Amino acid sequence: MQIGILALQGAFIEHAKMLKALGIGSFEIRQKKDLSKPMNGLILPGGESTTMYKLLVDLDMAEKVKELIESGMPVFGTCAGLLLLAKTVHNYKQAYMQTMDIVAKKNAFGRQLGSFRATGTFNGVTDVTFVFIRAPYIESVGEGVEVLAEIDGLIVAARQKNQLVTAFHPELTTNPTIHKYFIKMCEKAMK
Ligand code: GLN
Repeated sequence: MQIGILALQGAFIEHAKMLKALGIGSFEIRQKKDLSKPMNGLILPGGESTTMYKLLVDLDMAEKVKELIESGMPVFGTCAGLLLLAKTVHNYKQAYMQTMDIVAKKNAFGRQLGSFRATGTFNGVTDVTFVFIRAPYIESVGEGVEVLAEIDGLIVAARQKNQLVTAFHPELTTNPTIHKYFIKMCEKAMK
């Protein structure tokens, strides 16, 4: 199995390290031709969504990424990656790829809670550390979107078919629960 990690900006190295620890191969996607390499899943990392999207457009990669997702490629968006996939970004002038039926709020936890950790339950797995860095949350989900984690009643992880998103950064912890969940999605898609 090979996972492609978008490596234009942001926290992409940490995803590669987590996958390596799980025995999963990955490669960095830096230019359009990298999107044609054989891959079983795609990770859109945290960073800054507007900057990342601008780079995707400038490098003529945005459309191809969208096509891959719409053709069923398993994709995992963390933080800024969640914003890239959201159909609507409620408090911002622009939405990006718009492939996932969620309404997201950017920088949603406010200034005082710019960065924080919380412990929560992901898809029934308890005691998972959630690391938030100027994180969004999901204000509402459409039909067919499964909520996988909430804190204080706010949705922070969800899945719609081949798309998985977390508002937090599992790659900045040593707990592999969420990457394992994504790898299962990729394995299923291979069958
Ligand atoms: N605040 C960033 C954005 O709007 C996301 C932060 C992150 O990815 N850690 O894109």
